[in-house]
Amino acid sequence: MAAQLYRDTAVVLRTYRLGEADRIVVLLTEFHGKVRAVAKGVRKTKSRFGARLEPMSHVNLLLAKGRELDIVSQADAVESLAPLVGDLDHMTNGMAALEAIDQMTLDREPAPHLYRMLVGALRTIGTRAGPLVVPAFFWKLLAVDGVRPELDACVRCGEPGPVVAFDLDEGGVLCRQCRSGTAISPEALDLMRQVLGGRLNDALAVDPSAATHEVSTLATKALEHHIERHLRTVAMFER
Ligand SMILES: [Zn+2]
Repeated sequence: MAAQLYRDTAVVLRTYRLGEADRIVVLLTEFHGKVRAVAKGVRKTKSRFGARLEPMSHVNLLLAKGRELDIVSQADAVESLAPLVGDLDHMTNGMAALEAIDQMTLDREPAPHLYRMLVGALRTIGTRAGPLVVPAFFWKLLAVDGVRPELDACVRCGEPGPVVAFDLDEGGVLCRQCRSGTAISPEALDLMRQVLGGRLNDALAVDPSAATHEVSTLATKALEHHIERHLRTVAMFER
């Protein structure tokens, strides 16, 4: 019986070894969701896939459908989304984006909007630094997953302001009377409103500050709260 072949474009999220020469690649495809596929012979020095199946590679693929694991039959580079080797900040940010999306997607469940968000985020990471590139991506991911935080009024009493705290269990900001969770500064709140309120480019252009650190810490906590586990990569970039 001939294997069923299909084409798709994907970003490599991570890879792991399989036997002596093969590797399993975890892919976020545009139209087939997250797919696990075997890349045969990829660890040999003369592999026909070259370095095209490393994390952050953006590739056009021809895949053969398998019961659990598909098989990579062809892989052509679309573009390199991996930042220049040696740029540790960009690399770490990219890995954090990959890990977050890996945690937020299910095998074989099409999520073209998440694929597009990831490609967009990796392009941004590769071209501009900025303390809020990854945190903004985390907040956006949460928003598309239906857990957009309430930022405009106290989540408990509806008081429009001033709000002084952010509580993950409540899903948003709180006024002085109702406060719980962690304190949030007006500057950090303003940045979060920019990120989630259509002024993303303004937020991405800001310099590192106490407020960006607050937004970043909250973004990580919110994502970890949502996926109910810790992100491995974050410890590396939150310092
Ligand atoms: Zn309140």
